[in-house]
Amino acid sequence: MFNNLKQLELTNKNKLRLFELMRYDYYQKYTHGIENLLNKLDINIPTKNINNDQEEFLHDFINNEKLDWGDTSFHLKNKVQDINDLISLRPELESKKESILNITTNKGYLLSILPLNLFMPEEVLLQFIPPDDFSVPHPLKDIDPYGIASPDAKIIINSMWVATKKFEHTVLMNIHGHCPIGCSDCYKSFYVREKGHESELGAGDPYEEVPKKLESQTKYLVEWLNKNPQIYDVIISGGEPFLRQNSHIKILLNEFRKARYLRILRFCTGVIFLGLPFRIDDELLDIINEFTEEADIKITFQAHISNHLQISPEAVLAVKKIKKRGFNIYSQTPIKKGINFFLDDLEKTIFYLRELVKKQFLIGVEPYKFIVDMHPRTLAYYVPIEALIKVYGHLFDSHIIPELERPKTLSILSKQGNIVLSSHSLFAMKKEVDYSSKFVKYRIPKLTLNNELTSIEEFIYTEPLSHLNEDPNSFEKLRKSWFKE
Ligand code: SF4
Repeated sequence: MFNNLKQLELTNKNKLRLFELMRYDYYQKYTHGIENLLNKLDINIPTKNINNDQEEFLHDFINNEKLDWGDTSFHLKNKVQDINDLISLRPELESKKESILNITTNKGYLLSILPLNLFMPEEVLLQFIPPDDFSVPHPLKDIDPYGIASPDAKIIINSMWVATKKFEHTVLMNIHGHCPIGCSDCYKSFYVREKGHESELGAGDPYEEVPKKLESQTKYLVEWLNKNPQIYDVIISGGEPFLRQNSHIKILLNEFRKARYLRILRFCTGVIFLGLPFRIDDELLDIINEFTEEADIKITFQAHISNHLQISPEAVLAVKKIKKRGFNIYSQTPIKKGINFFLDDLEKTIFYLRELVKKQFLIGVEPYKFIVDMHPRTLAYYVPIEALIKVYGHLFDSHIIPELERPKTLSILSKQGNIVLSSHSLFAMKKEVDYSSKFVKYRIPKLTLNNELTSIEEFIYTEPLSHLNEDPNSFEKLRKSWFKE
């Protein structure tokens, strides 16, 4: 890390100060005109706690090296990958050192903490730290919980994995095999967080000047789309799709102009709220804008956000840029213990979820999807669905908050498909508790249309046993208390 800073032998403490100063300068330069919004959002604005001598020295360094907090490559170059660097920057993580060291050394875990995230409170930072049980085998952990690599879902053309089809009208296309954002429970963590698997996402070398494989991948997919007119929605994902250079995005979009039935292109990205909002630059937006105007294909940003603390001034600026061009941003929020859901503190949970939807709506992001944690490698963030549905029902089905701030869905995403949950699911679900295997199995009715009438499919979902779901009669008790039986 700190490739370009090492020569000055700055201590990590000084490096943090350097970042602080760069961030402060950036804030002074770019946030004019949005102070009112930032006040409404009650956002912690960047400050500097630097004495004059230090400041002069660091400012000289910034000027000599032409460092800029708004430069994406600075952030990528200076992400923290080494546990010792991390501990010296955030000493409160000392107690996790041995465990992180074990996971990075023995399990090939790629630690990645972006500089902006070093300024974030624990409820944000923890998302990027591998928990103790990372990679400890468990029957409910699945390296591909969503089934993106299921053989029957993969679209393979000329031996290339070009996309995944799980739904009637939508395909998922991965265009990058790496993600520097570093969420430890990313549902693709096997591919993006574990050494040696990046190339398996089928996107080819992301650093090539002329990305031949990406070009072929898109060409093959467009040819396939033109033969499958029922598919009109493509999700572009990765890794992080915006790690692709602008010229690569241009190549991709140029190919998609030939897709005759395509109506929607969704970029699924973490850059806006998870530490790299600088990547949303004018050139990128110009390319996207030109494409959508000429091709009449709607482009959206599906932005990963975990809690309201990730709405930094930098993220607000990126959102404003996108909104100015008229693009919609829809949020996707995995529900995670300790990040946005606190099993021992209901009040805090409600406050966090409320703040999240309230603040994102204020900046122009549409609350879109809450997602049940998919636990590919860790169960540490898992929130049992009964507890989750109750809070969700209280907050969002009850109309106590304005409907515009409601997420569209609370969903389980799984290999067998997706299902939307609501407080009413509690009155329709059945549950079986298996104490010996330590599982709880839910049978959830799902409506589906047959040729004549609506019929019902059974959606099976299994989660780990805990004190929150161990009562096999919890639903009956709920129904009795509701119907006063
Ligand atoms: S931002 Fe998305 S792709 Fe990147 S690590 Fe996080 S969850 Fe995974």
